[in-house]
Amino acid sequence: MSKRDYYDILGVSKGASADEIKKAYRKLAIKYHPDKNPDDKAAEDKFKEAAEAYEVLSNPEKRQRYDQFGHAGAQGGFGGGYGGGGMNMEDIFSQFGDVFGGGNPFDSFFGGGGQSRGGRRVQRGSNLRIKVKLTLEEIANGVEKKVKVNKQVVCNTCDGTGAKDKSSFSTCKTCGGSGAVRRVTNTILGQMQTTSTCPTCNGEGSTISSKCNTCHGDGVTRGEETISINIPAGVSEGMQLSMSGKGNAAPRGGVPGDLIILIEEVPHETLKREGINIIYDLHVSFVDAALGTSVDIPTIDGKARIKLEPGTQGGKILRLKGKGIPEVNSYHKGDQLIQVNIWTPKTINHEERELLEKLRASENFRPNPGKNEKSFFDRMKEYFE
Ligand SMILES: [Zn+2]
Ligand SMILES: [Zn+2]
Repeated sequence: MSKRDYYDILGVSKGASADEIKKAYRKLAIKYHPDKNPDDKAAEDKFKEAAEAYEVLSNPEKRQRYDQFGHAGAQGGFGGGYGGGGMNMEDIFSQFGDVFGGGNPFDSFFGGGGQSRGGRRVQRGSNLRIKVKLTLEEIANGVEKKVKVNKQVVCNTCDGTGAKDKSSFSTCKTCGGSGAVRRVTNTILGQMQTTSTCPTCNGEGSTISSKCNTCHGDGVTRGEETISINIPAGVSEGMQLSMSGKGNAAPRGGVPGDLIILIEEVPHETLKREGINIIYDLHVSFVDAALGTSVDIPTIDGKARIKLEPGTQGGKILRLKGKGIPEVNSYHKGDQLIQVNIWTPKTINHEERELLEKLRASENFRPNPGKNEKSFFDRMKEYFE
């Protein structure tokens, strides 16, 4: 199935401002929210579709890639990111903090995407997103990155309970400890009974008479954690890794969110990455190409000496097997490809001119490509093999 245009999905123009995009998404998110449209698959699909469009168009880098390359440019999911299956609900809900300016507007009647455990609501910390910049060497070898992350951590003083001490807890008077309340509403179809999270205790079944002084009852505080992230070799720009439970801590004994790591590549000074292969542009003088020579060239793990045969033609591609980037979670490795470019001098002095004039007249200096000479097409074919 081909995907719809992200701008069409949100109903905005290609030149829409960030604010217009946010507003358009907010409207759709409220309209198609799954809790507002229970068991409506079409609404759920629309909800996910809008979230995916917003995820891309709200991010200047992704939006630019999308504008340039279409859907293929905006993807690059890692293990079920935004590639094939679209976003998962947790991701969508965690996005709401930014969209609705702190807090989820659905919290009051739905429990904000929290899971239910035995009738009581279990709160879930939000996902945390960070970017990690990697050099080509780090990508080639894999790396362990220690990253200091500013996030919500469990309050030390109250151990995450939010209470001053044990005697501060009492059973909630509103719901009698069940965490849920029933509500009767009058609708045009008659009376409807709905069960919702108890507003007094937020579904926890108990209330706190005196709150912890450090976190003011939240059970979480702002803190720092140094997280060590194992990045496998072969990752690439735009991939996302996810570490379960390393995101923001949840209030009062809930489940922490995930840490989502977005990979960014730092361009290498001389080497260029092309998938699993490394490309190096070598420039030699036509004298070296004619006489043959040995040159040191940079590789991902130091230097390599390569030999140019006498009579090497410009455009020749040499291959250093296995000197490329490994595929993620595989033993297969790419190669380093060296393209030979003949450097033609741009300025010459009088003496050099005289030498060259003599060479110009020589039979051997007249181009004479035989049938055995590789064409540009042949070289490209070899390259993509
Ligand atoms: Zn209650
Ligand atoms: Zn506390």
